[in-house]
Amino acid sequence: MPERIHIAIVDTLPMPADETLRNVACSTGLFGPDTVGLTLGYAILIAKGHATRRLLTHEFRHVHQYEQAGSIESFLPAYLAEIATFGYVNAPLEIDARDHELL
Ligand SMILES: [Zn+2]
Repeated sequence: MPERIHIAIVDTLPMPADETLRNVACSTGLFGPDTVGLTLGYAILIAKGHATRRLLTHEFRHVHQYEQAGSIESFLPAYLAEIATFGYVNAPLEIDARDHELL
């Protein structure tokens, strides 16, 4: 449901407060200097200056993935397991999101 999406433009994306989670997020490539978008359910955070059509359509696909999963609680563990197994670039949910980017 696109009308439920909320987009916030932020100065910097929030890093996980937990140090272990933060280290995993960085070592898997989930969070890095190039990270400019983050989707949590219907909430999309975009780093200031990066709200391009390409990034927004990528994050909108993640919203769709959350909807398919049914909830944040069921999507995130599956997503993070993919990131841990395949790495950020090769995670199937990321490949799917990239396949739905509109330039
Ligand atoms: Zn993505």
